[in-house]
Amino acid sequence: MTHTAARPAHGIGSVKPVGWAYDTAPMIVYWELTNACGLACRHCRATAMPDPAPGELSTEQAIALLDDIAGFAGPGEPLPHIVMTGGDPLRRPDLARLVGEATGRGIGVSLAPAVTGLLTRERMEWMKSAGIQAISLSLDGSTAGLHDGVRMVPGTFDATLEALDLAAEVGLPVQVNTLVTETTASDLPAVYELLRGHTLMQWSLFFLISIGRGSELTELSPGEAEKVLLWAQRVGRDAPFRVKTTEAMHYRRLGAAALLRAGKTREEVEAHPMSRAFGIRDGNGIVFVSNTGDVTPSGFLPLSVGNVKESSIVSLYRDDPLMRSLRDPDTFLGRCGRCEYRDWCGGSRARAYAWTGNALESDPLCPYQPKVGA
Ligand code: SF4
Repeated sequence: MTHTAARPAHGIGSVKPVGWAYDTAPMIVYWELTNACGLACRHCRATAMPDPAPGELSTEQAIALLDDIAGFAGPGEPLPHIVMTGGDPLRRPDLARLVGEATGRGIGVSLAPAVTGLLTRERMEWMKSAGIQAISLSLDGSTAGLHDGVRMVPGTFDATLEALDLAAEVGLPVQVNTLVTETTASDLPAVYELLRGHTLMQWSLFFLISIGRGSELTELSPGEAEKVLLWAQRVGRDAPFRVKTTEAMHYRRLGAAALLRAGKTREEVEAHPMSRAFGIRDGNGIVFVSNTGDVTPSGFLPLSVGNVKESSIVSLYRDDPLMRSLRDPDTFLGRCGRCEYRDWCGGSRARAYAWTGNALESDPLCPYQPKVGA
């Protein structure tokens, strides 16, 4: 067994050193332990169900996957961080064993539990003692009516706020995820004010991609999305927690543009702490393993490059032609392919695929017109 230092914890997952590349190893492995879940959220990527799906990885297959993930280690190469997600990872009877097997290999673990009756104080105390570095909770509205209307189970709003406070009490860092759609966007300022009254490490605005059950909801227009990102940038300056985005990589363009306008050079921008997020996108720094072992560039880009029951995740991540293309912005098409921000941003490959059927196309959520290379 190889024991290698895990990447330092920083939010759900971890951060790369400035200038880090992702050709040989991802920063985060999102691992869907099961798609069993007691909720039935309207935007669920996993289209979660009450019971585990046939073909879910067995405990032995899951431990073999951990051995493979430990194989990402190399000279000067930190191990990826694992985010155990679902469905509801608390529905895996062998969760404690898998967390122990991961941390025993030096792999950092975060958890994305569903807010159900399984998420008790005892469970949170166990998470803390088991070395789980952070958890994520979803809050999709500032009132019970708005949040429970997305989560489809009454009482989830109150339970989520209770879980948030409980996590603070037991010392578990929390990332709160909030869905951004045409109907939830106007409520974001109220969600922000609500969260300011609680303790969290990070708030992630998840810009809907219309897949799974999420195809029943409507994405923002590019202009509306840009307004939300500018608002997030503004409130993020004074927020008591970090504000980030998921599947809205062009948030980095706004941050980088502000530095360039302030007179920074590209080299100075790349040395800025914000650059730790640069380049991370579906298949580049991120890889996803489904409950049945399929490997995809992310949870929102449903193109399987192989299955961990037959192949090593290391070779699938490093060598698959699709994964290699997704890591090379010079293969991108349209605006993203000629954009001066493509190395730092690169757009959502998942949204490009959902809208056009080609993961290398431009991100349709970004309104930016590149200035160079046209
Ligand atoms: S055009 Fe593409 S690469 Fe450029 S900022 Fe927009 S999403 Fe990012």
